[in-house]
Amino acid sequence: MSYDYDLFVIGAGSGGVRASRMAANLGAKVAVCEDMFMGGTCVNVGCVPKKLFVYGSHFSEDFKAAAGFGWSVGETSFDWPTLRDNKTKEIQRLNGIYDTMLANAGVEVIDGRGSIIDPHTVEVAGRQYTAERILLAVGGWPVIPEIEGSEHIISSNEVFFLEEFPKRVIVVGGGYIAVEFAGIFEGLGAETHLLYRGELFLRGFDTDIREFVAGEMTKKGIDLKFNTNVTAITKQGDGSLLVALTDGSTLEVDCVMYATGRKPKTDNIGLENTKVGTKPNGAIIVNDDYQTDEPSIYALGDAIDRVQLTPVALAEGMALVRNLYGGQNQKVDYNFIATAVFSQPNIGTVGYSEEEAKEKFAKVAVYKSDFKHMKHTLSGLDERTFMKLLVDQDTDKVIGCHMVGSDAGEIIQGIAIAIKAGATKTDFDTTIGIHPTAAEEFVTMREPAYILE
Ligand code: NDP
Repeated sequence: MSYDYDLFVIGAGSGGVRASRMAANLGAKVAVCEDMFMGGTCVNVGCVPKKLFVYGSHFSEDFKAAAGFGWSVGETSFDWPTLRDNKTKEIQRLNGIYDTMLANAGVEVIDGRGSIIDPHTVEVAGRQYTAERILLAVGGWPVIPEIEGSEHIISSNEVFFLEEFPKRVIVVGGGYIAVEFAGIFEGLGAETHLLYRGELFLRGFDTDIREFVAGEMTKKGIDLKFNTNVTAITKQGDGSLLVALTDGSTLEVDCVMYATGRKPKTDNIGLENTKVGTKPNGAIIVNDDYQTDEPSIYALGDAIDRVQLTPVALAEGMALVRNLYGGQNQKVDYNFIATAVFSQPNIGTVGYSEEEAKEKFAKVAVYKSDFKHMKHTLSGLDERTFMKLLVDQDTDKVIGCHMVGSDAGEIIQGIAIAIKAGATKTDFDTTIGIHPTAAEEFVTMREPAYILE
């Protein structure tokens, strides 16, 4: 049977674009459809604009730090439309690059939301296309719980385009997005409250890291309210929002942003016309080769909800396409995925937390270091840096490495390679440090703080 395409991809986000482009480069006839924006969440309302905002929000602190180095900065002010619109221009430039890359690879880009008609047919904007294989790279979407007044809540989809920058803001949630945006709002000058329903935010991260970040964020002026949630939001006559909390108190703010998780965006894509199975949260069930229960249909990235990170979706897309069109048999290795939270200061982490290591290994040496970064000896800021190494005593392998501090993401990326390659504590100890850096601390931690048995 002949089809219009070898591969039809639904969704031009990180995973979908990479898979389309690589498949076309390997000789497949490929189409990709997209109903929102080229590049998906990461490029448009995620990683990229978020990081630009993180850069922007650092200046308030940098201006303060400059005085200790002899600079008089003078009066400063922040203009939100400039940051917002410059960011949007940069994103539009990236959208264009994605379009060009796909066109150059020979991928046909179709505007509109794809819906599956049968295991080999996709409909977009009233037209049907057939394909030998279909790839679902439909990504995820923010989840906002229903509460009284939830129509006043914004998510990470809207925060990048706010008409006005809020003077007072509540961020709800305790994951990556909430912690990153609390830092952005505070750095850009808003009175910022971060509400988390549990005991301590960033569940799943090493407890020392979570506590350390909570301390640093509090020092910067963010009001952290744990064991607290919102019960109702009322819009007042002057446009402000009166927010009632579970502890019986109220807060008056201009903006309430929820970052309470994301769910796969698999509604209304015609899955009912196929044998594709989903989990209760809508995540598409796939085997190790990203194949769904319908043999001609594949899925990857946030849509399968294994690890919601762009580099993971890219790795999945590349493995899938190399296997389908390049005659290879690759598997994505989900072990030791390094990650960063662009909180202020940053978190960088790879490997096991102390809590996980204690469960999994018989004897673990824990090394810790908490110090003032050299820059802050003159900056006058009281930000501190924290580093932690976990070493399996049976093999001497470093099984966890965590950092809170300036550029933690940049530093941990390099260390992640060493750890993935099986580096031992002896390898760390015999590596000569780069002086003076904060990162050299990772190769000079001599005595364990304690041993877990
Ligand atoms: P996360 O899943 O990381 O965190 C969701 C948070 O919301 C948790 O703290 C959760 O609490 C809380 N929550 C869930 N439901 C409710 C509710 N009904 N009421 C109050 N709180 C609630 O989601 P995010 O939205 O922060 O981010 C989504 C994903 O995007 C991340 O998991 C990450 O993979 C990715 N991401 C990665 C980034 C990076 O690499 N730097 C940056 C941004 C996002 P609890 O812990 O109690 O469940």
